[in-house]
Amino acid sequence: MTADLPFKLPQFIAGHVWLVGAGPGDPGLLTLHCVNALKQADHILYDALVDHSCLKLAKQGAILEFAGKRGGKPSLKQQEITERMICLAREGKRVLRLKGGDPFVFGRGGEEALALIEAHIPFRVFPGITAGIAGPAYAGIPVTHRSINHSVLFLTGHDADGTVPKSFDWKAISRAAPVLVFYMAMKHIDEIADDLIKGGRKSDEPVMFITHATTSNQRIYKTELGHIKQTIKEHDIEPPTIVVVGKVVSLADKLSPDSVTDELEDELDNRSL
Ligand code: SAH
Repeated sequence: MTADLPFKLPQFIAGHVWLVGAGPGDPGLLTLHCVNALKQADHILYDALVDHSCLKLAKQGAILEFAGKRGGKPSLKQQEITERMICLAREGKRVLRLKGGDPFVFGRGGEEALALIEAHIPFRVFPGITAGIAGPAYAGIPVTHRSINHSVLFLTGHDADGTVPKSFDWKAISRAAPVLVFYMAMKHIDEIADDLIKGGRKSDEPVMFITHATTSNQRIYKTELGHIKQTIKEHDIEPPTIVVVGKVVSLADKLSPDSVTDELEDELDNRSL
């Protein structure tokens, strides 16, 4: 597929590592660099959040190794993943480290790249489309909208030790940006919602949960900051989920694919009357 393009994509050199983002799930959101990497890699170390449909693009004979942290399968620790990458590269393999979304957005891509530098392994980084932008977009939420916000804050709901980052100043966060996009927030979402309200956000502020964003299992749940607990109980919302807080969420009433389709159908019905 990449061979038909009117421009050249890079050649994957043996002994090199490519850290590549595979996007949030919909294979249509893979970058050409990602497809090019899949077509050439000898060994693919992929994360739990990488959608399996894209692995079908791997070249014949490529080894696919799960290096994620879920799915009930035995999982490698971060250090082991890094060592594995280095070891495979030293064996002369073209190593594709494939990560969900973007490798440098809450993806530990920086840590892995630093380890490769230390080990003198040549590498390249190719960004992917991050779930915190694509997820809202697929739900009908632009993360910026000129009349609503001039800034957006991307946050993680937990730290390396599994708790809400202690460095967070909730008052400052609440004031900092009208729109907040949380990754990895489900474990501590009650605490996060309480802290945001204490920090000054309104309890009737709209919130959207976008689960399995951009995949055929995508689900969206709209609620308000003060009602988060009930919404989660009612719908049993689980990771992977992106949480958007802010007025932009209301735009989904008009811009979500369902709303757009409904509106078009209404218009067509009216025309045919
Ligand atoms: N590097 C990734 C983020 C990894 S952190 C990126 O750029 O998208 C893992 C978190 O990302 C999950 O807990 C969830 O909050 C979010 N996430 C990743 N893929 C997702 C998806 N398809 N749907 C919803 N959330 C997703």
